[in-house]
Amino acid sequence: MSFVKGLRCRECGKEYPARLQAGCEDCFAPLEVDYDYAAISKSLTQERIASRPANLWRYRELLPLEAEPVVGLASGWTPLVRADRLARKLGLDAEQALRDAIDRFSSRFRHVELALAAEGRAVSDASADEQERLWQAAKRAEGDRMGDPAGSARREPIAGGSEPSEGSEVK
Ligand SMILES: [Zn+2]
Repeated sequence: MSFVKGLRCRECGKEYPARLQAGCEDCFAPLEVDYDYAAISKSLTQERIASRPANLWRYRELLPLEAEPVVGLASGWTPLVRADRLARKLGLDAEQALRDAIDRFSSRFRHVELALAAEGRAVSDASADEQERLWQAAKRAEGDRMGDPAGSARREPIAGGSEPSEGSEVK
């Protein structure tokens, strides 16, 4: 059931058999799992994924599994939560910081989709490497647009207002 072809260096492309290995022996770059996408595309559809339970294993064809998972069966679908105390320490609006993070991810996905659509292609037609390159390009474009990584979450000073004192609980 495994669709894993092996491991491949992200930098130099050197291929390795699927085994426990931290990095490339030649250039020390990280390795990624090389999947048989042609075989996966014959059996995996969006409808099939959507029909499965809402957990990580619905993507099993795209994971380096040798057999059906037996532990961590409820993994995935972890909700995003506001980091109120961290946001306060950084002078950010926690709710806005969370929304900004979601927006950045949505924006990167749109960037990947649009870049491929401009070539008349769908995301499913692009290799993992290609999707990764477009994702990284979207991240770089973000960095160029926003000099401040905190974005709009940066709190405006409250004129005459009182900040919560250090160590107070956030409701
Ligand atoms: Zn390498």
